[in-house]
Amino acid sequence: MQAVLWVAGLRAPGALLRDLPVMARIDALLRRASSLSIELWPPKTPEALAHLRLSLPRLYELRPTFASITYGAAGLTRDRTHELVVEIHQQGQTTPMAHLACFAHRRGELVEILERYAAAGVENVLAVRGDPPRDVPAPFEAGDLAHAVDLVELVKSVGPFCVAVAAHPEGHPAAPDLASDRRHLAAKLAAADFAITQFFFRVADYLRLVEDLGALGVDKPVIPGIMPITNMRSIARMAELSGAAIPAEVTARIEAAAPDPEAVRAAGIEIATELCRDLIAQGVPGLHFYTMNQVSATIAICENLGLAPRRA
Ligand code: FAD
Repeated sequence: MQAVLWVAGLRAPGALLRDLPVMARIDALLRRASSLSIELWPPKTPEALAHLRLSLPRLYELRPTFASITYGAAGLTRDRTHELVVEIHQQGQTTPMAHLACFAHRRGELVEILERYAAAGVENVLAVRGDPPRDVPAPFEAGDLAHAVDLVELVKSVGPFCVAVAAHPEGHPAAPDLASDRRHLAAKLAAADFAITQFFFRVADYLRLVEDLGALGVDKPVIPGIMPITNMRSIARMAELSGAAIPAEVTARIEAAAPDPEAVRAAGIEIATELCRDLIAQGVPGLHFYTMNQVSATIAICENLGLAPRRA
């Protein structure tokens, strides 16, 4: 059914989404339509925050089903994440989802963060474990929760939140093997409401993830995460972040466009557009864009897909 909605273009702005409420649990929205969503970072500087605020109206034109806001593990962005989530919530243009990472956090601290969200009317949380921040010297406080599944249970115990989790199509880079990683993911997703994947470039990796979860008895929505490549530097950084190699065919297309930055960006947008088209044809429950707070690539991809109003 979802595939039909996507393929028929009914999901385009002005059609299906017009009837959906902005403030709602995301799992309820996913039951009604395929989603289009974006990830944002809480900016570090007042200048970057001002830039993001200027960009938000353009993103809102896409009528995103929800916007997720990342959390710096070890509490690095604790207040900034809260403030951006609440600001988006109050603007009423899309449904915000607060990321929360349990790494180096005491249980009481996590409860306090969640109670603040509940008091502000925020209903959606993405529960992740988090990793030791690279740019902050260790050691970190010992955390009370070892894995994201423990945080899912904690979030659910604090209030009636809709809880999302992270999924890794090619397996989590630190997992000893794919089979055990899939079992842990299945247990985590069974306790949560839906998942968003780490970015990937091969549809087959996503399909295998969904198939493996199905074989383990879990059929909750798994939304593919899309990362547009916008420059040569980001390729190496992306491989480092995801722990997965960028496929040779993708690297070759980007390298063929180099060194012209505009051509590289265009190739990255084209690659992401093709991936999204193939995913839509497979009937995915939504598309989640890692915007890196740079809105234009996401907008260009959505325009290519017919999911955004075209500019004159
Ligand atoms: P887990 O589910 O805990 O898995 C981590 C590892 O532990 C895996 O190898 C898994 O196989 C293993 N494992 C899981 N459960 C068990 C168990 N019960 N027993 C033994 N082993 C187990 N990071 C941030 O810091 N902030 C963010 O805002 C953020 N947002 C993200 C959003 C998305 C959509 C994604 C995909 C990732 C995000 N991350 C974020 C990164 C994430 O924190 C890292 O990938 C981290 O290394 C793993 O997090 P997880 O939630 O998947 O952990």
